Amino acid sequence: MSTADIDSTYPLELDQPRFSVKNPELRYDKQGDMPDAQRVETAMRHFVKDFGAVAATYMESCIHCGMCAEACHFYVATEDPKYTPIWKLEPFKQAYKREAGPFAAIYRALNLKKKVTVEQLEEWQELLYDSCTLCGRCTLICPMGIDIASLVGLARHGMNQAGLVPHELWAVAERAKREGSPLGATPKVFKERCEWLADDNEVEIFVDKPQADVIAAMSSIEIMKYPESIVATAKILNHLGLNWTFRTDGYEATNFGMLSGNSAWQKDMSMKLIDATIAAGAKLLILPECGHAYGAMRWQGANIYGKPLPFRVLHISEFLAENTKNGALKIKPLGKTLTFHDPCQVSRRGGAIEAPREVIDGLGAELIEMHDTKGLNWCCGGGGGVVTIHRADPIRYQAFQIKMKQVDDTGAEMLVSSCSNCRQTFDDGQDHFHWDKTMLSLLELVADNLEDK
Ligand code: SF4
Ligand code: SF4
Repeated sequence: MSTADIDSTYPLELDQPRFSVKNPELRYDKQGDMPDAQRVETAMRHFVKDFGAVAATYMESCIHCGMCAEACHFYVATEDPKYTPIWKLEPFKQAYKREAGPFAAIYRALNLKKKVTVEQLEEWQELLYDSCTLCGRCTLICPMGIDIASLVGLARHGMNQAGLVPHELWAVAERAKREGSPLGATPKVFKERCEWLADDNEVEIFVDKPQADVIAAMSSIEIMKYPESIVATAKILNHLGLNWTFRTDGYEATNFGMLSGNSAWQKDMSMKLIDATIAAGAKLLILPECGHAYGAMRWQGANIYGKPLPFRVLHISEFLAENTKNGALKIKPLGKTLTFHDPCQVSRRGGAIEAPREVIDGLGAELIEMHDTKGLNWCCGGGGGVVTIHRADPIRYQAFQIKMKQVDDTGAEMLVSSCSNCRQTFDDGQDHFHWDKTMLSLLELVADNLEDK
């Protein structure tokens, strides 16, 4: 066996008494030097602060049927009861019952709900961050319609305030706040990339036009890892003859403030995009192939702005669908079979289920659906920031095997999706398992098959 055959992700421990695989150390991350008692108090205060009427109703309505367990890829992959979705909300629930629920005074007086300890919060860090992609599959299955993904998102606010966020996620969110992009795609880097991509691909890429009808945004993964998406976006918008531009004061659609649970950072990132679109006088903001960017702007943008947005917001797949249906996009037929991975935040959480299918139809490809598809599709396991957390790799790879089987069962020639975060998770999984399937981007597939005008 050559060294190339050894999986470098889990190197063999040759110094051990017997061959073994080194497991990543279990570790809990803390930011800042707040005393433990203050961390607990801060987390609880913010858990309680986030209880609106809706959260409180959810807390009271669980009938403990356990159905959500079978909906969650992390439970299904491990069969470990601690990954049951509703269990992930335990600290939130405990804070609610002890501090805010209808019997809170009794619970406190009789100490029926004990005060949460920092050790418990550290343990829950893994449940709230490493093993929840905020995919919302459990919500669809729950007979009471409890929106566990949203509640996990709210619980992350308390964890963030208490400085109890997995380090990588906190670090990329902090970098995004400081530099404007989680992966170092500063305005200067972005502009330079656009310039060399335009030269290399002989395509016009507009940056910082003062006025435009359409503003396009990108995700940091695309800018740094899949820059061909920038080229594809430009090719399509030019093909349609639109007056469009990227803007260096608002190009980054990724929102790690939302994923890490920091509402102030979330607002800051969203407002950059909103302000840039308004400054250009644009009537349309096109969001990139990034699931959580879609949720952050399409469904939360107006709340953050405080009133209806003065422009339309579309995910790129919705934009492509509109222009496929109205005949504006001229695409050469592909004549292949393909299967489509629905990104949770766009399809299940966002409702844009038919848009990619309309584009695939326009591509002249035969779509072979997976066995659980559309709103019930299984998550890739890397959303919600999970793909950034190294210690979550083992459980993420376990969950990814559900996805691999789904794809393999279709027998389709091509695998396509429209989320760069899923794409990164698939690329990583493909590498880890030496899998023979590569995920392609729907956006790039369209751009590569445009008819000459
Ligand atoms: S939102 Fe998704 S990952 Fe999170 S608990 Fe529910 S099914 Fe599991
Ligand atoms: S499926 Fe809904 S009601 Fe049943 S245990 Fe899960 S959260 Fe509670």
